[in-house]
Amino acid sequence: MDKKQKQALLWFLWGMALLLALLAAFAPQPQASVAVSAPQSQGGYVALTFDDGPWPGTTDALLEGLAQRGVKATFFLIGSQVEAQTDTVLAMAEAGHQIGIHTWDHVQLDGLSQWETQDQLDRCRKVLTDLLGPVEFMVRPPYGFVDENLTRWAGAPIICWDVDTLDWQDKTPSRIRNTVLDQTRDGSVILMHDIFPTSVEAALLCVDALMAEGFRFVTLEELFFLRGITPENGQVYLALYP
Ligand SMILES: [Zn+2]
Repeated sequence: MDKKQKQALLWFLWGMALLLALLAAFAPQPQASVAVSAPQSQGGYVALTFDDGPWPGTTDALLEGLAQRGVKATFFLIGSQVEAQTDTVLAMAEAGHQIGIHTWDHVQLDGLSQWETQDQLDRCRKVLTDLLGPVEFMVRPPYGFVDENLTRWAGAPIICWDVDTLDWQDKTPSRIRNTVLDQTRDGSVILMHDIFPTSVEAALLCVDALMAEGFRFVTLEELFFLRGITPENGQVYLALYP
């Protein structure tokens, strides 16, 4: 091999090295070994609310599941059921959940006289105050039925909802979770009932699924505070979107 051939060989080798380096640089990168997670939603703050309790067994199971997840919720209680479940209601308050009024014995409030309306609310308020002290209790009207008189006589903010899970209807936890995932947005108020074991199961599925989407759970009072809104007596709130 003469000098010219050696030089040509060196140029050839250098060219090959350059080509290999370029191929390596532009070759598709191998996939990361960890699974690539789905795009995260923006999430936001939501208030999970439970009506019709306290109920033996189911409310305690729900409180335990929420505690395991560090989640706070709001419970609208039926006054006539409180005395038989005082330990549960005290544990609820102790855990930092918000408690509200869902009438004395679950009557529809629209169309009632002023005396009947205030009797339903005041009896529930009294049994809760006797147990928990002087707290400002918000009101959740049964079935979400509100008329003008109720807005005048409630003496408390009236809380309805924007996400109705219909958890009492088919009692199917996976369907309930899908409904909640479809409808919940930042500031939503989710309605459930802690009187069915399937609702407890569904609620915890919803919590896990929404947490994975970046949602955080707050009480209604906290949601009002976060939105910079002072809840007003007689005002009806469905949700607190930003
Ligand atoms: Zn109810």
